[in-house]
Amino acid sequence: MELSLLSKAAMNVVRKLQDSGFKAYLVGGCIRDLLLGKRPKDFDVSTDATPEQVHKVFSSNSRIIGRRFKIVHVLFGGDNIIEVTTFRSNSEPPKTNKYSNRVSGDSGMLIRDNVYGKSIVQDSLRRDFTINAIYLDPVKKELYDFNGGLYDMLHETIDIIGDPLVRYAEDPVRMIRALRFSAKLSFRLSKRTSAPIHELKNNLLAVSNARMFEEVNKLFLSGHGLDSFNILKEYHIIELLFPGIKDFLDNQNYLNFIEYALKSSDIRYAENKRNMPHFLYAVMLFSVFNRNVFELRMTSRSMINPVSTDEIVKLSLDSVFSVQDKITAIPMAVADNIKSIWRNQINLLENTGNLEKSDKIYQKLIFRAAFDFMTLRARFEPFLAQSVAFWTPYYEKSKALADKRKKLLDEQKQERLKRKLTKKKGKDQKKSGKEFERVTSEERKKQLERARAWRKSMNLEV
Ligand code: ATP
Ligand code: MG
Repeated sequence: MELSLLSKAAMNVVRKLQDSGFKAYLVGGCIRDLLLGKRPKDFDVSTDATPEQVHKVFSSNSRIIGRRFKIVHVLFGGDNIIEVTTFRSNSEPPKTNKYSNRVSGDSGMLIRDNVYGKSIVQDSLRRDFTINAIYLDPVKKELYDFNGGLYDMLHETIDIIGDPLVRYAEDPVRMIRALRFSAKLSFRLSKRTSAPIHELKNNLLAVSNARMFEEVNKLFLSGHGLDSFNILKEYHIIELLFPGIKDFLDNQNYLNFIEYALKSSDIRYAENKRNMPHFLYAVMLFSVFNRNVFELRMTSRSMINPVSTDEIVKLSLDSVFSVQDKITAIPMAVADNIKSIWRNQINLLENTGNLEKSDKIYQKLIFRAAFDFMTLRARFEPFLAQSVAFWTPYYEKSKALADKRKKLLDEQKQERLKRKLTKKKGKDQKKSGKEFERVTSEERKKQLERARAWRKSMNLEV
């Protein structure tokens, strides 16, 4: 195990908690990655300190956040955050008693899960898979494995902890997590882990759409999107996550397009570039939108008063989003980007060769994203080649314009920073003058004398 890949921040958090008398270990994905010789992307700490106690240890450098349960974020600047979770327990039978902290709904789904566990063993049993329940004490350099996680790591197997039916009923998201880890690590699922998924997959529809949005991002945006797609398809879960694409799943053209786009995203991730959710949804659901537009146009043609293109586009967008939003709550800003990219597919196509309008179109902020999307489509829809050729010089112009804008903004930022620094320097000079005054003040002199006397009385004076 390559311990040099451990982050200093994670080490500090564990050490500080242990020095304050608490138990603290690293657990979860980071240990899995370390065992595989990979650099972990984030670190999770598990402790017997309550969130309030953790917050006290790290005071203003930490904050308690409460999503499904309370956890503490210890902040080390930028996005370097260490997540600290209090040991939890899974051993009590679920109750619906309003005084209980561990509440489950009618389906056995956990709504709140805030029972603190007393031991690391209890904590390990409430985790999802054995490979996610290996603990490391980085100070003692000791690994703890109570569920055969190391064995499963060695055999490249994902095995759910406890009774699969109960664990999936408690939290259906564990089903897509199992598939995600299989895609991410190229591990296989044990039979007992995979078999119940076929029966229970519809429980995913009961998960909040906000949480599902996050889970879908994790599946597709972090380097294993194509493998995620393939395994979700194999389990017939892809059509639960994106109900609109059901009719397209045996269309080879659609599949080629998705495969190519997801592979590009995976390559971007490997190159440390960020993948954006709007791109994923734009790719995944474009065919649905496009078919809606086509069908509405056909209907409109046979009407006495044909519907305008704008109206058709609006109806088509609404139809796609009303279905998808029920599953994954797409934030407004993300939805706006998807809609702009799609609208512009029609706009760019209809205005190919239109020199009057083109000057206005290419100056829009979304133009390049829309053009990129069209270029991607053109690989699979050859009739778009002519449009791509027409818009390419505008793309270059738009890029030059954006570079110029960026340069200007950077310069303005530098200027502001410089001004801020000179102001601060002035302030510091004034302050250091004041400090000098303060240091030599009568009160300070008395303090120093008292300190010297105390050190002498304790025989500390040399
Ligand atoms: P990744 O590398 O994708 O972050 P991870 O294993 O670290 O993978 P997280 O979602 O960060 O995944 O969760 C951290 C740990 O918390 C997991 O390794 C697992 O032990 C536990 N965990 C997370 N989600 C669940 C869940 N739904 N049920 C049970 N345990 C969970
Ligand atoms: Mg993690």
